[in-house]
Amino acid sequence: YKSIALLTSGGDSPGMNPAIRGVVRAALNSGIESVYGIQRGYSGLITADIHKLTSRSVTNIIQRGGTMLKSARCLEFKEPAIRAQAAQILRDKNIEALIVIGGDGSMAGAHLLTEETGIPVIGLPGTIDNDIPGSDDTIGFDTAVNTALDAIDKIRDTALSHERLFLVEVMGRNSGFIATQVGIACGAELVIVPEYAFDLHDLCVTLAQQRASGQGSSGIIVIAEGKDPGLTSRIAYQLEELGQDPKICILGHIQRGGSPSGHDRMLASCLGASAVHYLLAGFNDILVGVRQGTIVDIPLRKVISEKKILDRNIFDITTLLHK
Ligand code: ADP
Repeated sequence: YKSIALLTSGGDSPGMNPAIRGVVRAALNSGIESVYGIQRGYSGLITADIHKLTSRSVTNIIQRGGTMLKSARCLEFKEPAIRAQAAQILRDKNIEALIVIGGDGSMAGAHLLTEETGIPVIGLPGTIDNDIPGSDDTIGFDTAVNTALDAIDKIRDTALSHERLFLVEVMGRNSGFIATQVGIACGAELVIVPEYAFDLHDLCVTLAQQRASGQGSSGIIVIAEGKDPGLTSRIAYQLEELGQDPKICILGHIQRGGSPSGHDRMLASCLGASAVHYLLAGFNDILVGVRQGTIVDIPLRKVISEKKILDRNIFDITTLLHK
């Protein structure tokens, strides 16, 4: 390959910048002559908002949150005719392959683009949710978990001072990876995830016993936001019915921001460089991810047709560590 392009798409995640840097530097240092950055994900691809990147363009971004290429959702890209136009724009600019950094939606778009138009694509898992099948880890997950933990450690001070129960909602529409890791690491009393059923009643009995014995009854419940908005309010309402007075804290978008952790910078840099290696080795239609500490390729078809399972044994640990 002489000329490739890359874009970041879907929800941004801390570590997209070091991934961009990894791709650009590895490509230019491996003999690829031109690397183009596409602005705003697939939106910038179909409007030809495409600019050449140099080694210097990615200086001083390794520590920055967000994505220098910007990200967007682009509904039009779900139409085959628009994807055909996108491929033509790449061909007109003599761009021979595309690297897409994003979540599962972005991987679906990348897979369809190569299947329909023959433009080679490589995906990188850029999402805080850690919900990409075939990869143990995703770029941004570790930072998001640590950001949530910083916040919850502060909330716990108030929970203890006021002997209050706090419901802390973390991101995770379809999956409870953030909630499980955050819940175990912050010492939550209960973790609620979309994958598994939960029982508020047991928790309330424990809290009532603590109160009756003169101990303070404070606690943290970590809730993955889930698909239907208002889940956390409904749980608060049920807890009120059971005699509790919970406070709600929704962590929201702070989880997507901030400087990437050391772990995420390392992951993003290695995956960025590896995406280029796989491309130069002739691979196409794959996601470059990590399994048991090793970099692996996973067919995009598999990535988009499967769901990553939240390990039941690990999730069950959340129910074993309360007071
Ligand atoms: P994420 O990549 O973080 O999961 P989205 O699901 O919003 O985020 O997807 C990002 C973008 O990927 C969408 O705005 C759209 O441009 C593209 N995309 C998502 N799903 C598809 C699909 N089924 N077909 C084609 N493009 C898609």
